[in-house]
Amino acid sequence: MSGTFRFVTDNPKSRTMERCFDMVNTELQRVFHHTASVSVETFDEPEIYNLSHAHSQTGSGIDIQEFIRRQHHDRVALGISNALKNVSVITRPGFVPTERGRVDPFGYSIPDWAEGAVCADRIISDTPIYHRLKQTIVPRLIAFTTTHETGHLLGLRNHCPNDCVMHATPTTEATLLLMKRNHTTTPRFCTSCLTRIRRSN
Ligand SMILES: [Zn+2]
Ligand SMILES: [Zn+2]
Repeated sequence: MSGTFRFVTDNPKSRTMERCFDMVNTELQRVFHHTASVSVETFDEPEIYNLSHAHSQTGSGIDIQEFIRRQHHDRVALGISNALKNVSVITRPGFVPTERGRVDPFGYSIPDWAEGAVCADRIISDTPIYHRLKQTIVPRLIAFTTTHETGHLLGLRNHCPNDCVMHATPTTEATLLLMKRNHTTTPRFCTSCLTRIRRSN
């Protein structure tokens, strides 16, 4: 059982991101019995290029699907194995195109390519209503989605009915309620998801 992870964002040293990745790391170390290899980095040159070239032709924002396609293309070119799970935490507005238009998701991933993305801007833009708790809530919400997408990259294809980070929460309110029920400050996998990850990695 092993896991290698790279989390990448604009400013990993910001208070919010430091707290967020601390929580994600704590959970991954619990899952992998303190053997998970976790690195937190700033977007490199090719990734900055991919972000700027994944801009929508028709509207504003980054086309997350296009960005991930470009990331995949680079990985193949560089021969980077899928054993490395890569999650980009994007702080600019993003969207995913659909047949009927577009959706603004909290996160998005393609497990077959070991690439995931977290739409931090979408998460942050939802939290002003929780103004008083913003400082503590924003890092937890970003950590929740980051851990959720990482779970998909670790082979959890379906969402989970338990009080679990793999539960599908369509709104920020739902995520907050779930975290409350979870009785923990760190987003966590339930025992069933944890077992499944350990078995298949
Ligand atoms: Zn999901
Ligand atoms: Zn679960």
